[in-house]
Amino acid sequence: MSRRFFVRGPLKAGPLRLVGGEAHHLVRVLRIGVGQSVVLFDGHELEAPADVMDVAPGSVDLTVHEPRKSQTEPAVELVLAAAVPKGDRFAWLIEKATELGVRRFVPLVTERSVVVPGAGKLEKMRRTIIEASKQSRRTRLMDLAEPLEWKEFAARELTAGPACVAHPSGAPFDIAPFRAEVRAVAAVGPEGGFTDAELELATRRSAALVSLGPGILRIETAALALAALITTCR
Ligand code: SAH
Repeated sequence: MSRRFFVRGPLKAGPLRLVGGEAHHLVRVLRIGVGQSVVLFDGHELEAPADVMDVAPGSVDLTVHEPRKSQTEPAVELVLAAAVPKGDRFAWLIEKATELGVRRFVPLVTERSVVVPGAGKLEKMRRTIIEASKQSRRTRLMDLAEPLEWKEFAARELTAGPACVAHPSGAPFDIAPFRAEVRAVAAVGPEGGFTDAELELATRRSAALVSLGPGILRIETAALALAALITTCR
């Protein structure tokens, strides 16, 4: 059972009042009471033990001990961009990308995209990111960007570090360019695939078109395969 709770940071030692969903989870769901200890994290890599001092309807008073920087982030800051899969598959992708330590997720709007998430959906996904962080002990929240047109993404983000674009007829994925870099970028297209013009835009920006094997993968499978390869490569 998770005894980790998210507070909007920055965490510091001293008294703290927890309210809203996290307070509800602590008191009503986990039934943690006065005198018990929990761990707080602030989404910016700080975490701290804390003791429950008082419990009231809708709020919990804690004493926070000295925060420390935790070491749960991968060595590489990966920007993962993908067209948005339908239905629950998007939430699943967000949950798993969070667990894998993706730094930033960008929902892509491509020529053949069918799903563009609205504000409500993105807010729900931010809640999913908090839950997945608690579960996986990640202390930095994955940043979820607003949906971005491929052209904008290619101009603004593809050049930020070594970049790869998943494409079934690309070259076999090569980890070498990603090993020593601090930042990396990976992109996955919609179920209908990237158009030739979109692929050309990517190669003009020096992104590598990479294959992930002979099968045609779903968006979320391709995205998580790339994320796992890159975030665990050192
Ligand atoms: N209908 C498309 C496939 C779309 S699959 C086609 O035949 O090209 C959705 C996305 O997942 C693709 O745009 C690509 O980015 C990625 N993808 C799926 N299978 C892949 C594979 N074997 N290698 C690399 N990327 C793949």
